[in-house]
Amino acid sequence: MPDHDFETIQECRSCSSRGLVDILDLGIQPLANALVKDSHAPVKKFPLTTAFCPTCSLFQLKETVKKEILFDHYVWVTKTSKGAREYAQTFAHRVIQRAGLKGEDCVFEIASNDGTILKQFMAKGISVVGIEPAKNIAAMAMRDGVRTDCAYWNLATAERMIKQYASPKVVIARNVIPHVSQLHGVIEGIARALSDDGTGVIEFHSGRIIAEELHYDSIYHEHLCYFTAHSLGWLLNKYGLYPYAVDISPISGGSLVLYFSKTKRILEPSYLDILDQEKKSGVNEALVWQKFFKESNAHREKTLDLLKGLGDKVIVGFGSSARSATYINFCGIGKNYLEAVIDNNSLKQGFMTPAGDVPIVSFEQGMALKPDVIFILAWNFGQEIMDECAKRGFKGQYIMPFPKEPRLIKSV
Ligand SMILES: [Zn+2]
Repeated sequence: MPDHDFETIQECRSCSSRGLVDILDLGIQPLANALVKDSHAPVKKFPLTTAFCPTCSLFQLKETVKKEILFDHYVWVTKTSKGAREYAQTFAHRVIQRAGLKGEDCVFEIASNDGTILKQFMAKGISVVGIEPAKNIAAMAMRDGVRTDCAYWNLATAERMIKQYASPKVVIARNVIPHVSQLHGVIEGIARALSDDGTGVIEFHSGRIIAEELHYDSIYHEHLCYFTAHSLGWLLNKYGLYPYAVDISPISGGSLVLYFSKTKRILEPSYLDILDQEKKSGVNEALVWQKFFKESNAHREKTLDLLKGLGDKVIVGFGSSARSATYINFCGIGKNYLEAVIDNNSLKQGFMTPAGDVPIVSFEQGMALKPDVIFILAWNFGQEIMDECAKRGFKGQYIMPFPKEPRLIKSV
């Protein structure tokens, strides 16, 4: 019987080419954010496979799970991480500079979450509108005084919003474009809303870094497209949008912030450098992704060898992120190795990891298990986690699984 909860694409999500090349198969996986209360509860699983498009160079997920199922239990909130909060300030400062924003200007942010980023613009007297589809999170932003419209972003939303508010001088989309199944509607909406002299800003996990540093853990059902500056530029061009500058971002373990406009501007060295790096790395060719597939399998074996080498030491994970779900399920890591997973997000505590068998606990509960080793699953917050553990007296070892190689680190 066909499963109506997901579809498998036959053509490229961006350019509609039918010549997709199959790459990595991560097996049958539960949804990365579907935490369960009871380890015996049935967990729905879906295939998790990837493909590369030789026409527009987009590396992408083949399965599209219905968004009603994906976003049913959305528990990630931007302000959970100290690093994310600090970066919000840097990000806003750069956008204000590049777009030459002034007091009377308006900024739209697509998938504005709890308003962490928009607050930075409000602090400079710039008017803002957040667009956030998750009701509970939009309400949280509004309680904090951030004007937020609870909606999915598309052409119709864009048209309604420019009538209701103003034509924005800046439209921001941070780490959301790679997650939308209606890719074309979202980009078309940006092209429609942006004022003629405006600046679009898209932040995304860099495909080149994913390939080079083996971030296969960033592949999960919500993350449909793995863009490079080249492949995203291809899509923007289709809607009359032209990239001209790039900033480097630490988010997700290596992201790019791409700036674009409705008219062609002089290409800045930052943008030309990134295109050059991508060209040299070969990330816009299928060969690199085929190598990524082989190396990801080898990485899994290295992870398991490292864990087996620890014998009967007590291991506690740290960070029950969406990414860690793919990683531990792909490697077959559950209660066979982990006593518990610490997560500072209280909304996740009391649940089990998405494979359903490791309890998610608070820092205190995790430490009460007297771990010899902390397995840093949310490794892109690695330093922050090690600092916190050290400050609170942990003296054991850490496993840092990425980038590139899993390794053991001693406490300092
Ligand atoms: Zn394509």
